[in-house]
Amino acid sequence: MNLGQTISSRRPGAARFDILAVPGLSHFLLWKHSRTAVQIVLFALAAIMVVDGLMGSQLAARNTATVGAWVHYRGFIVLALLLAGNLFCAGCPFILPRKLARWIGKPTRRWPKVFRNKWLALAGLLGILFVYELYDLWSSPWLTAWVIVAYFVTAFVLEMLFTRDSFCMYVCPLGTFNFLYSTVSPLQITNRSMDVCKSCVGKDCINGRWDAQDNLIQQGCQLELYVPQLNSNMDCTLCLDCAKACPHDNVALVTRPPGDELFRQSWPNRLDLALLAIIAACVGLVNAFAMTPPVYQLEQWLAVALNTDQEVFVLGLIFITGAVLLPLALVYGGAWLNQRFVPGNRARSLARLIMRHAYAFVPLGFGIWASHYLFHLLIGPLTLIPALQTFFANVVGVPLLGEPNVLLGAAWVPPIAVIQGIQMLTMAAGIGGAWLVTWNAAARAHKDRNDRLREFLPWALILLLIGALAIWVFLLPMEMRGNVLA
Ligand code: SF4
Ligand code: SF4
Repeated sequence: MNLGQTISSRRPGAARFDILAVPGLSHFLLWKHSRTAVQIVLFALAAIMVVDGLMGSQLAARNTATVGAWVHYRGFIVLALLLAGNLFCAGCPFILPRKLARWIGKPTRRWPKVFRNKWLALAGLLGILFVYELYDLWSSPWLTAWVIVAYFVTAFVLEMLFTRDSFCMYVCPLGTFNFLYSTVSPLQITNRSMDVCKSCVGKDCINGRWDAQDNLIQQGCQLELYVPQLNSNMDCTLCLDCAKACPHDNVALVTRPPGDELFRQSWPNRLDLALLAIIAACVGLVNAFAMTPPVYQLEQWLAVALNTDQEVFVLGLIFITGAVLLPLALVYGGAWLNQRFVPGNRARSLARLIMRHAYAFVPLGFGIWASHYLFHLLIGPLTLIPALQTFFANVVGVPLLGEPNVLLGAAWVPPIAVIQGIQMLTMAAGIGGAWLVTWNAAARAHKDRNDRLREFLPWALILLLIGALAIWVFLLPMEMRGNVLA
């Protein structure tokens, strides 16, 4: 294999701006303890949320656990992914205790081969969204605090047992969400010079940098991503260990056209990633639908039809059907049409055709999640202030930010027409991006224009159907969860 050619075809677009070359900023980012410093700040915020959730006011709009987790964290996550990249994983507080875990004992086990994929993480993502809905986590500071604690404990135990960043790579639902949607982000790790990489002996970016006495000075990429071959943001936590370890100062964090890698189809032959992209988009739709009035009518109708008063069954059925079964039926149906009516596809399996077009579900899914999370953030951008006031006054006993005034949370809210306008623009961009990606996939596969069109049409309709359903949901009255206006 000609390494140089393979890599140059994978590199992000030519017009690149290197964030790690910005004086001052690069100094901080490449500082040995930069990640730990950010993690400590986020860890302190998480600690406040846990203490407040367990001991503070149990009114959702007055508690930092519910407001922080379900309004601000989610809103800022989509903004960060859109404007920069996977910034949450870069400063993730959940893996700060990993340092403690590794002091207690050095893990020796590799993550089991059978689980080295995204199936567990996908199940975790579905599970956490289902639990959120079933137990109304958004309205319970106490339960939210325990979810955060459970997250820390799981990360701690798995990091103590397994080498590399197994928890991030194979388990963490939040990280999986970030990995998936950072594929639309405008920044990516790459190298500055391929020639330097080719002549590099130690490959410290992945192996780590060691001194003459065989002591590790700087660890390399714990997610086993090799910078010269990196062609995707998938699995990159933006930890910058590679940049800190490279002895030749040859790692860059460069700009690229947003979603560039989706057009380059950078993760082929991965059914787990393909179904992750598809199901993540559809569970986003179900998650938003669950906050609108028709879901209650549907639940009541199902409860009567199934003769049950157990919400777990009714909601479970809605989740499984809406987020898994119907999407699978749709994409296998689309792939079957492609196989049946496009001559060049006769020998292709349905799974291969789904993998070819799954990239298109990333911009669509991101549009759905961003429209949803930005709604909650924009409808209550200041709700964190009274929640912090209440925490300091009631839990700490020092009114650091003044006496609690819950009305401050509603002091500034953009007009609802503006918020809905932003949601519609986001959805239009998501659907438009999805169509471009799926057309690109058809065009890469077929020279003949008619074949391209025949392949494109079923996917364009499926994407439009899901996008139109999401627009319908966003135009319905939506619960203002965790918001003082509610
Ligand atoms: S350590 Fe630096 S120079 Fe060596 S392969 Fe990695 S990025 Fe390239
Ligand atoms: S490539 Fe690896 S070491 Fe570099 S930023 Fe991404 S996850 Fe970190």
